[in-house]
Amino acid sequence: MFKRGIGDTTDIVEKEMFVFDDKGGEKLALRPEGTASIVRAYIENKLYSSSNLSKYYYYGPMFRRERPQKGRFRQFTQVGVEVFGSNAPAVDAEVMKTMSEIFDKSGISNLVKLNINSLGCPDCRPDYRKKLISFLNSKRKNLCEDCKNRLEKNPLRVLDCKLESCKAEVVDAPLMIDNLCPTCFEHFEDVKGFLNHFGVNYEINPFMVRGLDYYVRTAFEFTTDFLGASNAVGGGGRYDGLIKTLGGPDIPGIGYAIGVDRLVALMMEKKVEIGKRLKVFIIFFKDTMEDGFYLIDKLRSENITTIFDYEIGSLKSQFKKADKSGADIAIIVGSDEKERGIYTIKNMRNGTQKEIKKELIINEIKNITSIGGI
Ligand SMILES: [Zn+2]
Ligand SMILES: [Zn+2]
Repeated sequence: MFKRGIGDTTDIVEKEMFVFDDKGGEKLALRPEGTASIVRAYIENKLYSSSNLSKYYYYGPMFRRERPQKGRFRQFTQVGVEVFGSNAPAVDAEVMKTMSEIFDKSGISNLVKLNINSLGCPDCRPDYRKKLISFLNSKRKNLCEDCKNRLEKNPLRVLDCKLESCKAEVVDAPLMIDNLCPTCFEHFEDVKGFLNHFGVNYEINPFMVRGLDYYVRTAFEFTTDFLGASNAVGGGGRYDGLIKTLGGPDIPGIGYAIGVDRLVALMMEKKVEIGKRLKVFIIFFKDTMEDGFYLIDKLRSENITTIFDYEIGSLKSQFKKADKSGADIAIIVGSDEKERGIYTIKNMRNGTQKEIKKELIINEIKNITSIGGI
């Protein structure tokens, strides 16, 4: 499936996929990416019969034999999105928009850049390929060994060789975006237009081809300068022929994957804090148990992390426990508070204290949460 889907001249299949015989002599591969598997599931379960447009996502471990480095591992996690059933350019733009939103919400949008390109289609790529091969042949002796191999099997890949020496050789190479057929040209123009409508910033990078054989027309990649030489954090493209290649009907598709480990490495680079939730410690006593538990229940039902002292100790010992627990605020439910229909809120970070009417407590806590803690 991976050989047929990804292409057997790609780096992924040629060099990086873990393939071995199990004890029963069956040949196994650890999945190197998610798209081929989703397509297989889509075909096997005839999911195309229930809807014209299908949108999927996945999240999970993938495996490639690579040299481990910053943000790059042999077992890594990808989150991916696939849309089957439309070749409309608006879909391409929307897919890229969702990807850029993931980077926005992760707080690293200023560390990444969207590169886009068009890789043509079966109508225009073969002629371009010939042009490119004849150009590359004239540069052959100066190309690296990998590129000499690629030249015959997968010439487009020479364009995104990471070696400076190869980069220098291909600056004047003919480019796919200058050789698109009218349909591909128009498609690419529309994709750019919709990206503008969505407010997504991008750069056209005619040398970016992505490693996979199955892409047609739109290819895209988010890159960063903060993770060393291997600078893609995620990418994808349109693969209109893939579902058919893997034995299904002729249905277009587009998708992407983000390397979660690389995303996290970037967040660490920028010291983005996530998942920090407000923690509330409720202090109450034997004679205010009913009110204490009532408040605990109320806060928890609002999804607020709420803890208390199981021993129901003295005020002093409860404050100590609140402090140790890392709570952001403590709410005191004493007999005085009970009588007056209020709670006393103590900010555990700066020690300030205030009183608040019982019925306003949820609002108060939510306000604190919405301004990002205290
Ligand atoms: Zn074309
Ligand atoms: Zn090279």
